[in-house]
Amino acid sequence: MAAKIIDGKAISVSYRAEISEDTAKFKEKYGFAPGLAVVIVGEDPASKVYVRNKKLGCEQVGFNSAVYELPENTTKDELNALIDKLNADKSVHGILVQLPLPKHLDSEEVIARISPEKDVDAFHESNVGRIMIGNYSFLPCTPAGVMVLLEKSGIDISGKECVVIGRSNIVGKPMAMLLLQANGTVTVCHSRTKDLAEVTRRADILVVAIGKADFVTADMVKPGAVVIDVGMNRRADGKLTGDVDFESVSEVASYITPVPGGVGPMTITMLLKNTLVAAENFAKK
Ligand code: NAP
Repeated sequence: MAAKIIDGKAISVSYRAEISEDTAKFKEKYGFAPGLAVVIVGEDPASKVYVRNKKLGCEQVGFNSAVYELPENTTKDELNALIDKLNADKSVHGILVQLPLPKHLDSEEVIARISPEKDVDAFHESNVGRIMIGNYSFLPCTPAGVMVLLEKSGIDISGKECVVIGRSNIVGKPMAMLLLQANGTVTVCHSRTKDLAEVTRRADILVVAIGKADFVTADMVKPGAVVIDVGMNRRADGKLTGDVDFESVSEVASYITPVPGGVGPMTITMLLKNTLVAAENFAKK
């Protein structure tokens, strides 16, 4: 069986077009544009690329955006002062602090400082709690993007066996929660899971988010399963690869996301969606 490829790039393009249209309507109705502030501390090259793409995404859909580039030796007080200023700024509806931060800064403390109404990454503890009870404004961008990919591909989750490998706060745990809220029967696996392949072979929908190149092989996948690869790993030759061995798994799966071009393009798209929602919530107040 050759799996259908879920084209995250194409789905992201059409989803961004919808956001652009909604933004134009928003501007007409309220007379201002949604605004996103992105804060980056230090010189991490991958973070710089992500931040540049977030700014480009904002321009593409008609948002205002500002990038605050702070030096590596920025103190906690200096960063807090900037976040406080952005929290109070009425033209800023979303605030994103690019992670990872330099070691001397505590990312949990920094995220807790962001106003929950502007926390468009949905990492603030109050937003995490709201996701848990199913009453939220924002969803974390990567799992939210996976849900859109499943929906746009016509994949029904209700009653399905869903297995998530990975339990990070950013991907694995919220992913499991969203699948549960969509009425999947969810199992979460991690590095201490015994007989992982036995568990993954039960999955109708398998989401992999571990950060290990080509880890999931065909023998770990039930024939006909939907396989979503969140992983982004650099090979020695510089090429990007996922956590799933695409070549072998695409022979047994019914649907599969490629890397690159699967989950990745959706992440910034969902950030744009969250920023528009934040601006709408602000405008309605
Ligand atoms: P993370 O915080 O490092 O978490 C990795 C998870 O995988 C942990 O829960 C870990 O288990 C589990 N794990 C590691 N080795 C395992 C093994 N051999 N068997 C079973 N579970 C194992 O990573 P993350 O932030 O969730 O990211 C995961 C991957 O997604 C990375 O490749 C990252 O680059 C990618 N990512 C992509 C996007 C995107 O936009 N496409 C966004 C975010 C992340 P323990 O908890 O037991 O240690």
